Amino acid sequence: MARFIRPLAPVSFDDGVVKLCAPGRFLQEWVRERFSGILQSYLSDELGQSVQLEVLAKPREKSDHTPTKAVIYSPTTTENSVTRFVPNDKYQFDKFIVGQSNRLAVAGAKAVAKEPGQKFNPLFIYGSSGLGKTHLLHSIARELISSQPGISIVYMTAQQFAEEFINALQGNKVEHFRRQHRHVEVWLVDDIQFVAGKDKTQEEIFHTFNYLHSLGKQIVLTSDRPPKDIYQMDERLRSRFESGLVADIQMPDTETRCAIIQSKANALQVEMSYDLAMFLAESVPGNVRVLEGAITKLVAMASLEETPLTKEFAEPIVEQYFHNAFSKPGFGQIVDLVSQQFNISIDEMKGPSRKAPVVHARHIAIFLTRRITGDSWKHIGSQFGDRDHTSIMHGYQKIDELMHHDKELLGQVKSLMKNLNPH
Ligand code: ADP
Ligand code: MG
Repeated sequence: MARFIRPLAPVSFDDGVVKLCAPGRFLQEWVRERFSGILQSYLSDELGQSVQLEVLAKPREKSDHTPTKAVIYSPTTTENSVTRFVPNDKYQFDKFIVGQSNRLAVAGAKAVAKEPGQKFNPLFIYGSSGLGKTHLLHSIARELISSQPGISIVYMTAQQFAEEFINALQGNKVEHFRRQHRHVEVWLVDDIQFVAGKDKTQEEIFHTFNYLHSLGKQIVLTSDRPPKDIYQMDERLRSRFESGLVADIQMPDTETRCAIIQSKANALQVEMSYDLAMFLAESVPGNVRVLEGAITKLVAMASLEETPLTKEFAEPIVEQYFHNAFSKPGFGQIVDLVSQQFNISIDEMKGPSRKAPVVHARHIAIFLTRRITGDSWKHIGSQFGDRDHTSIMHGYQKIDELMHHDKELLGQVKSLMKNLNPH
């Protein structure tokens, strides 16, 4: 217990409330869940009055990709209001796992980093939160800084742009602001959707964009949605966004998630078996940021409990913290259900049998797996006893076609789906 208590720092004792601060969220939760009762009674004894306990978490260090000032990388700059942009070390191309879900965006980002202003200008990368947009922007900056050490780059979020622009307007410093943003080779703006509905800022972005573009300077923008879905965005600006390469990032499929998990474990210098990585890839719902959080938590808990990080250790933790009712059912749950429904064992479904009832159950399981997980044919094949991807596609199509005229089958599949996906 001392291991958990020692890092707690006293914050205040006011009005019968003792506040303690834990060094991170993980410890905060741990202490709240397991030790708050004991601590509270101990403190009450010690202080001679009944006290309430509050455990706070030390706020995280400001994450390095949201600096508060204009972040301009320019070795020659003398402006003292400008902080040097140091791209986050974690965010490099070679630490980014490429899969079907992000292939185009990565190719675009690499092309831009190699020859800025040449090929895709602007490059517009969109995808929902936590899928690697900021990571790619930093990777571009890092690559450019190392290949052309004298290059000047602006990297900022659209929110920073908006705030600084408004400050410049109020302080009569618009000329100065424009100089900062226009004397650059590469202009990287993260989360451009933020300026939706902000007319003045959009106007300024429009002029900056045109100025830089006409001089052949590279522009890269990211957003959580495609240009056409950013409402309250000036039509002229929207069409500028669409005039270069528009590349999306989707949620990674299971194989890519597994590779990401392995690489993150590697970076933390933690041994992780393929089995455990695959289990996490299948059972932790959510984006890559959530996956990272799960790994960090597991690693921290294993090290606190001084046990090796195995699947057995991880299972109950994942169940408790990360399994939510909305998560997609995985392969295991799907074959389990089909096996019960058709009274065909999982081994038979995965095995070589060509008996009609086995083949039928197998095809239904394949159909459901593909529909629900969206995994690649190849990956599904590997789960079904190392079958070739063409036989998996065939199984899927078979059910898909049959359902069109077989009402009973249609009903059966629908009810299985409902069983697996109650929401
Ligand atoms: P976004 O800007 O799209 O919200 P981030 O770039 O901040 O997402 O990514 C969230 C986290 O996930 C980061 O730590 C990033 O390194 C990681 N990440 C996302 N996609 C990948 C990937 N394909 N390979 C490795 N790490 C990734
Ligand atoms: Mg981001």
